[in-house]
Amino acid sequence: AASSSSSSSPAVTTAEAGEVPATMKAWAYDEYGDGSVLKLNEAAAVPDIADDQVLVRVAAAALNPVDAKRRAGKFKATDSPLPTVPGYDVAGVVVKAGRKVKGLKEGDEVYGNISEKALEGPKQSGSLAEYTAVEEKLLALKPKSLGFAQAAGLPLAVETAHEGLERAGFSAGKSILILGGAGGVGSLAIQLAKHVYGASKVAATASTPKLELLKSLGADVAIDYTKENFEDLPDKYDVVLDAVGQGEKAVKVVKEGGSVVVLTGAVVPPGFRFVVTSDGSVLEKLNPYLESGKVKPLVDPKGPFAFSQVVEAFSYLETGRATGKVVISPI
Ligand code: NDP
Repeated sequence: AASSSSSSSPAVTTAEAGEVPATMKAWAYDEYGDGSVLKLNEAAAVPDIADDQVLVRVAAAALNPVDAKRRAGKFKATDSPLPTVPGYDVAGVVVKAGRKVKGLKEGDEVYGNISEKALEGPKQSGSLAEYTAVEEKLLALKPKSLGFAQAAGLPLAVETAHEGLERAGFSAGKSILILGGAGGVGSLAIQLAKHVYGASKVAATASTPKLELLKSLGADVAIDYTKENFEDLPDKYDVVLDAVGQGEKAVKVVKEGGSVVVLTGAVVPPGFRFVVTSDGSVLEKLNPYLESGKVKPLVDPKGPFAFSQVVEAFSYLETGRATGKVVISPI
């Protein structure tokens, strides 16, 4: 049978392991610095996979602020060694599966945040490349109703929003103020709080042009930070999620016994900070909401950026003005 040249055998898919090349295109940097350290490597090594990993042919990726901060050297003490192919978020197709992989197979369309711990030894070979190696447990099947570009915009941000709400003990009937409601994390936190957790009231902050967007995502109250100081308003909340870095003001509007979750910047008691853990089971849990469109990825309308435009995409992200996610697609 091995020598068979029969043409009646099942169609060979393009996802066949044997077709994975030895080299690939990848964005990489070999020193920390500003966007100018990013270079397109036309012949980077395709990463090997461990037994618990799959190799993903990347279709789309997304940027997060952590990619820019890491590139700037802010986390060098706990970073993986240089050179670095950046990128946490991926959506693509499994082309190879390690020996211990049970739930995924070649041809599966998947998405996820490829680094379990964002700051502790994140992967050296990230998602801004044609291929990336990822532990099966960090991935989930892509919701069928979403394209690769949309799916790529979800993992790190939605996992952060979810973990923040969980750590805050958020539940149905509670109120929440989300600082930075129009960003990657905030846009998903609004939707999760309102449509998944059943918040009694969701308030969020943004600048004037983004207030309608906050409402469309599910905010009951949209606060224009260019016109009002949220900390001077009379309302108090069960939970405050700070995705801006306003920890000192955030603690002023939480109810007695409430929780203040701080993603960046100063932490003032009772506020607390955490660093997101990647977990494919969170994506699986949210799948019905994503599939039905109750929770929607928000892709910044300036994108998706072409793979050749990664430097421009980084500098746009670093303006701090992105609406939802800065997505790179197709790759
Ligand atoms: P984004 O780059 O997506 O945030 C951009 C958004 O922030 C814009 O829409 C902007 O709206 C809004 N914004 C900026 N300043 C303000 C302000 N003063 N008040 C209200 N909104 C404002 O960032 P992410 O959502 O991806 O991440 C947010 C922060 O959280 C980052 O610092 C990131 O590093 C951190 N983070 C931490 C994690 C952790 O595990 N600890 C995980 C994920 C993120 P406008 O244009 O209207 O100002």
